[in-house]
Amino acid sequence: MTKPNKSHGRLSIGATLRPRELMTDTPRLAKTWTAKIVTLFPDAFPGVLGHSLIGKALKDGLWALETVDLRMFGEGKHKNVDDTPSGGGAGMVLRADVVGNALAFASHDAPKDRARWPVIYMSPRGKPMTQDMARRFADADGMTILCGRFEGVDERVLEHFDVEEVSLGDFVLTGGEIAAQALIDATVRLRPEVLGNEASTEEESFSNGLLEHPQYTRPAVWEGREIPEVLTSGHHGKIAEWRQEMSEELTKERRPDLWEAHEKQQKSK
Ligand code: SAH
Repeated sequence: MTKPNKSHGRLSIGATLRPRELMTDTPRLAKTWTAKIVTLFPDAFPGVLGHSLIGKALKDGLWALETVDLRMFGEGKHKNVDDTPSGGGAGMVLRADVVGNALAFASHDAPKDRARWPVIYMSPRGKPMTQDMARRFADADGMTILCGRFEGVDERVLEHFDVEEVSLGDFVLTGGEIAAQALIDATVRLRPEVLGNEASTEEESFSNGLLEHPQYTRPAVWEGREIPEVLTSGHHGKIAEWRQEMSEELTKERRPDLWEAHEKQQKSK
């Protein structure tokens, strides 16, 4: 694998007429998985994504992040981005024309095929995020993510751009930025070049339809509690068996929905 060029970690895009890639001496490399974020708060990025393994990978150019500032596409002197909801009611709605222009700008150099380049709106009405979804996004070339604010965005823009709505869970946040960062984190860590150690994503929770077994490390005794004996036995077969049992027990107890799906899948094998 050729090592992608550095310096694409923290690109920020404003409403210039010139595509960003023409302003750099290294055009956006086709192979670098890229997240393009349309947001009113570009300063919120990379946020937690700038830390630890994901952050290091970002700095090393193994994946890229571009923010598109929604405000730059605002209307008039005050760069208005929102207006009152048609039909009345509380709050404000992000305007179709403003969001539309920002999404079009973000998409100008991205593949039009939604399988290769999903366009996502973080939304409590969306499909709850899953590990399978993160895997699908990690297999794409990158993605565009629209972060909503206020009461959300004009429905027409979601239809026009064939936008996929994704939810972080059944609760309401004040904006899509935290949700977008969660989605990107879950996705980018599945890119083979990012975590390096692929095995660690194969054995964790959800990867085999089960929750992970409990983990232990030193000290051997803590507050009178010992590490389960089998884990210090050095017997790899027994350890694997114990972990599998714990995994199943935990899943049965905590997530009957996952357990049922797991059993169904085992039977069909
Ligand atoms: N009025 C909307 C909520 C708007 S919350 C409704 O009742 O459905 C403002 C923004 O926060 C949304 O546009 C969305 O981008 C983001 N948001 C809120 N909750 C979210 C969740 N559970 N998952 C993902 N994004 C969420």
